[in-house]
Amino acid sequence: PHGIQTILRELGIRAENPAYSTGLNWGGEHDRQQRTITSPADGKRIATINLATTEDYDQVVQTAQEAFKTWRLVPAPKRGEIVRQIGNKLREFKEPLGKLVSYEMGKILQEGLGEVQEMIDICDFAVGLSRQLHGFTMHSERPAHRMYEQYHPLGVVGIISAFNFPVAVWSWNAMLAAVCGDVSIWKPSEKTPLAAVAVQSIIRNVLQENEIPEGVFSLVLGDATVGAAMAADVRVPLVSATGSTRMGKKVGEVVGGRLGRALLELGGNNAIILTEHADLEIAIRAVVFGAVGTAGQRCTTTRRLIIHDSIYEEVKQRLLAIYPKLPIGNPLQEGTLVGPLIDQEAVAGFTKALEAVQQEGGKVLIGGEVLAGDAYPSPTYVRPALVEAENHYHTVQEETFAPILYLIKYQGDVEAAIALQNGVRQGLSSAIFSLNMRETETYLSHVGSDCGIANVNIGTSGAEIGGAFGGEKETGGGRESGSDAWRIYMRRQTNTINYSTQLPLAQGIKFDV
Ligand code: NAD
Repeated sequence: PHGIQTILRELGIRAENPAYSTGLNWGGEHDRQQRTITSPADGKRIATINLATTEDYDQVVQTAQEAFKTWRLVPAPKRGEIVRQIGNKLREFKEPLGKLVSYEMGKILQEGLGEVQEMIDICDFAVGLSRQLHGFTMHSERPAHRMYEQYHPLGVVGIISAFNFPVAVWSWNAMLAAVCGDVSIWKPSEKTPLAAVAVQSIIRNVLQENEIPEGVFSLVLGDATVGAAMAADVRVPLVSATGSTRMGKKVGEVVGGRLGRALLELGGNNAIILTEHADLEIAIRAVVFGAVGTAGQRCTTTRRLIIHDSIYEEVKQRLLAIYPKLPIGNPLQEGTLVGPLIDQEAVAGFTKALEAVQQEGGKVLIGGEVLAGDAYPSPTYVRPALVEAENHYHTVQEETFAPILYLIKYQGDVEAAIALQNGVRQGLSSAIFSLNMRETETYLSHVGSDCGIANVNIGTSGAEIGGAFGGEKETGGGRESGSDAWRIYMRRQTNTINYSTQLPLAQGIKFDV
């Protein structure tokens, strides 16, 4: 289907006998649990993979530990050079990799290609960063003393990723970790492992050409069991985990229990506020992209629309005019804007949330159907739903990872809207549409949005890699990709050097012996 075999061949992977780790092929020595990967686009089987056993995982960690011993000695700008070459290889393979992401995950081709572009962008960012891993210097209180802080590589970084960004989130972590001198072990989502295998196969060539041990970037395929092993593993000083809040609470607790570092990027419940001063021409487009793009399966998907009552009817009517015309269908087909959900479990979650919200008093205005027929070759296509609801409903408080947009009315000033927006447990992305400076500045002030991302006159989804990405509260507090997010991948050291003939103690303490 869609020349998938050709794509896999181009990417250097085989659909049969696909047993992978660090590029060591896990041959047939042990009986391993297998998993069949089917495409949500057409329901067809793409491949079967072998899942790692505990012994496999252990071997991968040992390989990574060995690689760290040499990788940390490579000067940071030289590490950047390897990342530059990885970025170039990804440029070469953008088309087939983007297609595989689209076919395996179900996002539209434009977004599949966009995801690979994001990998390329973070490579460029990391190359520049490799010359800027700077610390501070400060003045010592003691004469003829110098003080400074420096950053050293941390070791093995575990990366647990979610199905909805099968490759980009790995690169946010792995490329920064790499220039920082760390080695990484990637445990991709068990729902989208092939894209990870393809990436590993692409970068393997770069490593071989440069005689870099492959353990600098390792891959281990498995489900939550492998993720849990990583969380508990003292050999992994940093675990970066992206996924549901349910997963993050477990990982955070286990990593915290051994006083390791956890970087958590968890669920969101993102809102857009439309005040009476909103420019609706741009606002409506942002809302629709945010709510139905990636079929509602982005962590930054717009899930709540908080609308001033003076414009509520107009906004509702505009959305009701657009929703019936949304091009839903095969994500690889040109013109499609809404693809399928990842699997039937996601469809069940969608349907269940819509039933529950109606029981709480919500009103489904449009959508919610599971689609059948020739245009929908798998059972996971749904029609995005618009629902009138109230913020306090239990269903609205939860993140349902599907295209449901809750319309919520507010009265009064922007503070009322902000209170509704912040009145959930999650704190990832948020946005306000308003041309009124008092409203927008209040929104961005310390009494405004409590989210990690707060935008004005652009939507909640589609972040750029230059800024640190992440959220507060149950979103986990982690920050990845741009700005100074690199610091968590390194260990910080404060150094004091005495070049005097005396030994003065800090705080003027006298201790003569
Ligand atoms: P998920 O939590 O089901 O799985 C995510 C990953 O965690 C998978 O690799 C899975 O195998 C692993 N995992 C699950 N339980 C684990 C455990 N107990 N210990 C260790 N690892 C475990 O999430 P999903 O369905 O793949 O992805 C959707 C979720 O991810 C949504 O909640 C979405 O908001 C969130 N997400 C967040 C961000 C962000 O940056 N904040 C980005 C993408 C997705």
